[in-house]
Amino acid sequence: MTIEGKVAPDLVLCRQCLRYVFGGTAICPHCSCDARQIGDRYRDGGYLAIETMQRIDRLRDDAAQRRSHEGT
Ligand SMILES: [Zn+2]
Repeated sequence: MTIEGKVAPDLVLCRQCLRYVFGGTAICPHCSCDARQIGDRYRDGGYLAIETMQRIDRLRDDAAQRRSHEGT
């Protein structure tokens, strides 16, 4: 099995050590903690707010795309 030819993987920040891990990663390969569990550094660093804004942006893009597909 190979991952050749794959598009850029979906990377997210580990919520414990703030390093990049693959989206959906449960145990962070860097710090061996739960990457999805929101840590103090993550929250105190304002990352939680950034993540929320990114999620809203994505939802808005999705909605706009859907609207343009509906046409006329
Ligand atoms: Zn980590």
